[in-house]
Amino acid sequence: LAICAVIFIVGILKEGVTPQNILNTFMVAVSLAVAAIPEGLAAVVTIVLSIGVTKMSKRNAVIRKLTAVETLGCTQVICSDKTGTLTQNKMTVVKHEGSDIKRLVSVMALCSDAEPDENGEAVGEPTECALVNDAQKEGCPKKSLSVQYPRVGEAPFDSMRKRMTTIHRANDGTYFSCTKGAPDEILKRCTSIWRDGRKQPITEAFRQEILSQNKAMADQALRVLAAAGRAWNQMPSSQEPDFLEQDLCFLGLCGMIDPVRPEVVDAIRECRGAGIRPVMITGDHKDTAVAIAKELGILEVGWKAVTGAEIDQLSDEELDRRIEEYAVYARVQPEHKVRIVDAWKRKGRITAMTGDGVNDAPSIKRADIGIGMGITGTEVSKDAASMVLADDNFATIVKAIRNGRNIYENIKKAILFLLSGNFAAILVVLFNSLLGLPVPFAAIHLLFINLLTDSLPAIGLGLEPHSEEVMKRKPRNANESILTRPFLGEIALYGVVIAIAVASAFLMGNKTSAALGMTMAFAVLCSARLFHGFSCKKKGPVIFSKDFFNNKFGLMAFGLGMVFLNSVLLVPQLKGLFKIADMTGMQFAWIYILSFGSMLVIQLIKAIFFTKSEK
Ligand code: ADP
Ligand code: MG
Repeated sequence: LAICAVIFIVGILKEGVTPQNILNTFMVAVSLAVAAIPEGLAAVVTIVLSIGVTKMSKRNAVIRKLTAVETLGCTQVICSDKTGTLTQNKMTVVKHEGSDIKRLVSVMALCSDAEPDENGEAVGEPTECALVNDAQKEGCPKKSLSVQYPRVGEAPFDSMRKRMTTIHRANDGTYFSCTKGAPDEILKRCTSIWRDGRKQPITEAFRQEILSQNKAMADQALRVLAAAGRAWNQMPSSQEPDFLEQDLCFLGLCGMIDPVRPEVVDAIRECRGAGIRPVMITGDHKDTAVAIAKELGILEVGWKAVTGAEIDQLSDEELDRRIEEYAVYARVQPEHKVRIVDAWKRKGRITAMTGDGVNDAPSIKRADIGIGMGITGTEVSKDAASMVLADDNFATIVKAIRNGRNIYENIKKAILFLLSGNFAAILVVLFNSLLGLPVPFAAIHLLFINLLTDSLPAIGLGLEPHSEEVMKRKPRNANESILTRPFLGEIALYGVVIAIAVASAFLMGNKTSAALGMTMAFAVLCSARLFHGFSCKKKGPVIFSKDFFNNKFGLMAFGLGMVFLNSVLLVPQLKGLFKIADMTGMQFAWIYILSFGSMLVIQLIKAIFFTKSEK
């Protein structure tokens, strides 16, 4: 706009201040402005983003904020929940420790909210389903248990306490409570243990035995839950957890497998190649977490696992210093997630964070990319998220990042295409005004190109086929402008080549009349830009490769653009509207020689400077 103003003022000063001159120079300035502003860009970017986002949603990544696509491509760290995201959340109890297994599994089943359906399969939270199914297998179906011992009170599960308690009434009018939860938490609240058919005081030896059983199971990647009970002569006077969960009698441990999602192993490998750091976060026991992290390839030599309690001991500065070493966080509570996100962000890393619970909302909000869970997630956590995984699957995050990177690359191609074409138009307008030649284009010509024939290939470029290559390089710097120096250089270079073709056409036509000069300049600019669409497909030359034809949208855009252009050039009614002069067959041929030639020159430049053909 500044250049337009200068051209306008200089023009008037040079030509003299008459109404006619003011009008003429004003028209030059306007066409320059029209040439400079890529009118179609905003629409193209929005269309490409929306189509990309629609495609992603079909692949289970639902983007809630359009701009998240851009950030996704820059993601450097993915902090992911373990249970359900890295693993299948299909728990099965495979091991018991305790002296009375029937009693153990009955208490586990009574203390669960999962209920068997008509086929006896449990429905509910996966951990609890596993316990209910297990009790069924051990001959203690939850249906009859609930009839015999109806639930009359509860202190629900909460991931801070890591345990829950239910109160039941027995036939004889007495009551008992069942508590289940993380073994370390349960053990702390036990004063006795059920052994050999009776209640015995829990000694240090018993505690050590339980802890080592727990460790053995956790090391095999089992998720371990402990159960305990307590008898009450009458209905407990309070249902406060602190009141209910004390002086308990330890019953035993159940270990369950939660198989890892097989596709996650590949996704993690892809992350490594793409310079993305996967981090596991879980409420589970450290040994379980470590065993699974190793299976997935998250925990490699030199990296560490820590617990929430250990993080509590660290100041923010210490955490910042060590954050790069930590690949696994175990026994974590939602507020730790906020500290982890903040620490990565202080390091300037673009961080994604998953979460499902209500308490996860703050960390999801804080992260650059907050990720909610479509299946297990609470509404609060999904609301805070910028992306929701319809399948709760970690592999979907990586797919979404790949899509984000590809969409960004394609938008860059569209921008390169639009700006280099516009630059060519500016150059020709400037060229003519410097040489005192007539204006090369009417505003309507430039609007026709910018809004119609240029938008189509730009959208086509935005829909270029995605490539795996984008995941073989580091994330791009989120703070870097899209218009880097080399990128601007490319825009300028291609702009100059096209401008030379257009100016030549103008000079050719101008020999006959200014109107013919304008017609030929417009026709060459339009068709050269249509050909230029192919040149913007990839970094290297494309003309003799099969990639030339790999985008049906691009080909359609080219075809349609050519139809539009030739209609304007040949259909009498349109010719009048667009001020098109009559051309000889030879002049018509020159339009295509010059425009196709400009593409050949650009391909040659690419072959020389960008031989390493990188998509
Ligand atoms: P995660 O599911 O990632 O392990 P949670 O915060 O949901 O994290 O659970 C924390 C811990 O609480 C679990 O490791 C387990 O020991 C215990 N726990 C989980 N679900 C239940 C439940 N339904 N009842 C009792 N304890 C549970
Ligand atoms: Mg859980």
